[in-house]
Amino acid sequence: MSDQLIHWWTQHPRRFMAGLGLVLLGTGVTAFGVAVPVGSDVQRSGTLTESLDLPSLNASIRNEPVVLFQSDRVKRTDTLDGFLHRMGVNDPAASEFLRTQAVVKTLFGNTQAPWLTVAATDQGELRQLTARWINEDGRSFTRWDLSRPAADWIVTEAQAPLLASTRLSGGVINSSLFAATDASEIPDSVAVELAEIFSGDIDFRRDLRQGDRFHLVYEILEADGLPLRNGRILSAEFVNNQKTFNAIWFEQPGKKGDYFTLDGLSTQKTFLGSPLAFSRVSSGYGMRFHPISGNRKAHLGVDYAAPTGTPVRTVGDGRVRFAGWQGGYGKVVFVDHSNGQSTVYAHLSRIDVRVGQSLSKGDRLGAVGSTGASTGPHLHFEFRVNGRHQDPLAMVRKSEPVTIAPDMRPEFDAVASAQRRLLNSAQTLQQALAQAR
Ligand SMILES: [Zn+2]
Repeated sequence: MSDQLIHWWTQHPRRFMAGLGLVLLGTGVTAFGVAVPVGSDVQRSGTLTESLDLPSLNASIRNEPVVLFQSDRVKRTDTLDGFLHRMGVNDPAASEFLRTQAVVKTLFGNTQAPWLTVAATDQGELRQLTARWINEDGRSFTRWDLSRPAADWIVTEAQAPLLASTRLSGGVINSSLFAATDASEIPDSVAVELAEIFSGDIDFRRDLRQGDRFHLVYEILEADGLPLRNGRILSAEFVNNQKTFNAIWFEQPGKKGDYFTLDGLSTQKTFLGSPLAFSRVSSGYGMRFHPISGNRKAHLGVDYAAPTGTPVRTVGDGRVRFAGWQGGYGKVVFVDHSNGQSTVYAHLSRIDVRVGQSLSKGDRLGAVGSTGASTGPHLHFEFRVNGRHQDPLAMVRKSEPVTIAPDMRPEFDAVASAQRRLLNSAQTLQQALAQAR
């Protein structure tokens, strides 16, 4: 971006963002969320497009009622009447008809957060109501539509595939990852995935520094332009303590997709970076090395303070060797992995696996508790090789080489350079925004 453009933009950030939204539409990028509120203007571009279709000018000339289109997500606390009121609908006959529709009952009070688009006159008369919600397959949605072109209501229902659109975003760490992602309006599930992708290199509980920054490109799955579900992170860059890490999602035919560095090296580790998933709840808890036995040297594990009930997962594929009570460990699970490696998860409040059971990396095996010789809720985690204790944090950082097949290399290079450009755009825009503030 030229200096002139940045200068103009700093004077007119809102107009710049709107213009950018239009420019990016042509490249498959429909929104840019950065650490300022202007991003939300662009994200509403779907609604904006609808309002442009309105014959409002002609209507007012001919003295016909103006029809307004509005879209909003149904909140869990919403009722039909409350929602319609919020949308400016005041139409008792329409409300009564809607109440007879079984599908309307399922739209309210569930966790799906469907989108409703309402077309109503400026007098509050309902003309059309369209509901869109995600189907169980996670890839398609239902479009339920009610309209009244003449005297009678017409109800239609159709299925359609969700369409993926791409978003660029980024942030700077001031206090925590979630504070930064909140400021950039990045959904929680995307923030957790970001932490997961880099968890082999960065311990998000301990290693984050003020001024660390990140950029990412992620998918949003949309129904007629309305975001229904967060998709995968396509690429991301994280600068931690002046060190840059990056990851690009790439799928090779016949293999599971994986994250690779820009050079085509796998970022996939044999083990997860932590037996606790990064979450809003646990991120507030520091990790501590605490000597339960009273002797620091005797403590051969890592303790993760976390609330009782926090899910605990196996850090790698393996088989349960022991699951039950054992002395100071309290409720404990031992998992055997390959090459004589094993892991220990102690002081659990509950155990969800049995001896001999096969586990895949990330499978839940129990929940954090304070059983055995424990002074408060925490997970005690050990890593052993042939029975000997190892530094768990060093072990989980060992990587498993996954290479890109030579014939897939040109395709990977093309994907990598496209993602590199998008990440650069995210970074440029963020720097300009920082200057504008
Ligand atoms: Zn411990």
